[in-house]
Amino acid sequence: MPGFELFGDLERKEVNDVLDNGVLMRYGFDGMRNGHWKAKALEEELGSFFKTKHVQLVSSGTAAVSVALAAAGVGAGDEVIMPTFTFVASFEAIMMLGAIPVLVDIDDTLALDPKAVEAAITRKTKAVMLVQMCGSMGDMEALQAICDTHNLLLVEDACQAIGGSYKGKALGSIGDLGCFSFDFVKTITCGEGGAVITNNNDYYTNADHYSDHGHDHVGNDRGAETHPFLGYNFRISELHAAVGLAQIKRLPDFLGIQKRNYTILREALAEIPEVTFRTVPEGGEESYAFLNFFLPDLEIARKVSGEFKENGIDVCFHYYDNTWHYIRKWDHLKDLKSLFPISTEVKEGLKYLETKTFNQSDSYIARNISCLIKLSWTEEQVKARANKMVETIKASL
Ligand SMILES: *Cc1c(COP(=O)(O)O)cnc(C)c1O
Repeated sequence: MPGFELFGDLERKEVNDVLDNGVLMRYGFDGMRNGHWKAKALEEELGSFFKTKHVQLVSSGTAAVSVALAAAGVGAGDEVIMPTFTFVASFEAIMMLGAIPVLVDIDDTLALDPKAVEAAITRKTKAVMLVQMCGSMGDMEALQAICDTHNLLLVEDACQAIGGSYKGKALGSIGDLGCFSFDFVKTITCGEGGAVITNNNDYYTNADHYSDHGHDHVGNDRGAETHPFLGYNFRISELHAAVGLAQIKRLPDFLGIQKRNYTILREALAEIPEVTFRTVPEGGEESYAFLNFFLPDLEIARKVSGEFKENGIDVCFHYYDNTWHYIRKWDHLKDLKSLFPISTEVKEGLKYLETKTFNQSDSYIARNISCLIKLSWTEEQVKARANKMVETIKASL
């Protein structure tokens, strides 16, 4: 997945444009810029890639999730349904707004289980945050139908799935709002950065103002701006956007390499009868950022994960034992270790975490291994890796 592996002249040229005129900020300073508006240009490129009406760049993927929810009016005391398997950013972004993350089980897509979502809906539910984990997607039709029936927002966190699609539509562009990250390990990178995408004019205007102190961005050179509402600073800088502008132009190449490398590994592993793969909904195409596979049980998965490390097969993750991506080890959330007081409403709202079990999520994540697909691997290197992985798995069964 990482764009950081392929960084070169194109990125340097875009960054140098910014360094040459010295305007590091994305807004204002119109007369000094020599026509360089890197953030605006990147928003346009992303808009045509996603075929979506509006793109708002922000400072990170985590900021994108917070801004998306805020733009749609999610705030104090509202419940947001999210999966047990994601990155910690999901609940951080919800709690920052004073809202309550309601964690529910995933299914064999490794994304939200529609039945678990439906069972978790209450009067307070405002949004469903569908995390398109590891380059694939949840059951889009079932989840969309639930949101329509219950009048809930569907927010897609597609931070790990740029380039994936469902029935021809880009992942991230299907829900009411979509969120992307361009941090250093994502498929394309700005160093740090993120984006909110939407076809809704009001959400876009809200995201635009909210991510820059509530400024309305009316007129040139920031002269006549007013503040229709309160905001924060989640701006991206021109330097970061410049890197992204080079990377988005290379994205089709990156996706091609990802798919080639993924396919070689998958075809090799598919020869082992005990290995199975996640379900990808019909009509869905993964971004191929990760290859996820299931082993028969936890014990074998732990053994394989350990043996992979021993044998130099890196970037394969057993998320069940990892602290970043799965509820089992999120003690800081379960124990509510906060630097500052948390509202009683949120505390009460999170009490379910003391007792709730997630057996269905465990049954998938315990057996899952997720291999990052690198762009820098040559075809020969991927084939050698595939052989080693097959040997290691067979010896561990
Ligand atoms: C990376 C990531 C984020 C957060 O993005 P940052 O840019 O690192 O803040 C959010 N959600 C998911 C699923 C991610 O993988």
